[in-house]
Amino acid sequence: MGRRARRRGEADGQRPRTRLLRPGEQPGAVLRGPPITLTCECGEKRELPYGERWECENCGRVWDTTRIPREQYDAIRKLSMRFRALPVAFGGLVAAVAIFFTLTDNIFSVFFLLPVALTTWFVLLRPIHRRRYREAVKSLPRWELGAE
Ligand SMILES: [Zn+2]
Repeated sequence: MGRRARRRGEADGQRPRTRLLRPGEQPGAVLRGPPITLTCECGEKRELPYGERWECENCGRVWDTTRIPREQYDAIRKLSMRFRALPVAFGGLVAAVAIFFTLTDNIFSVFFLLPVALTTWFVLLRPIHRRRYREAVKSLPRWELGAE
């Protein structure tokens, strides 16, 4: 808690030096769900978290993301959570095996395990995982929101 508060204080008025988030990812996106990309009729684009309203700076039209049905947005949120679960599960598995080797005095195996695990992830699992995620995202609905 103290650490978090300090970090936020440092970031006041300046860009944070380190970003733990992936580019384009808003804080809290993991739990609250992915941002919704709105394209205004004038061409202005904005990414908003679900539940927020946006008044376009260009033309003044007001867009309200709560016009998207909650259950449809929840389906998207669940999808993105599910696809985040695999890297987390894989990391947890590798960590568990590493701990097991450490406890059984198999330090050499830990040094062997880590490169093998990283290679397996980046060469084998991650490309498959990303392709499946892209395909799942493609099948999601698009909404046409009307301006208010
Ligand atoms: Zn606009």
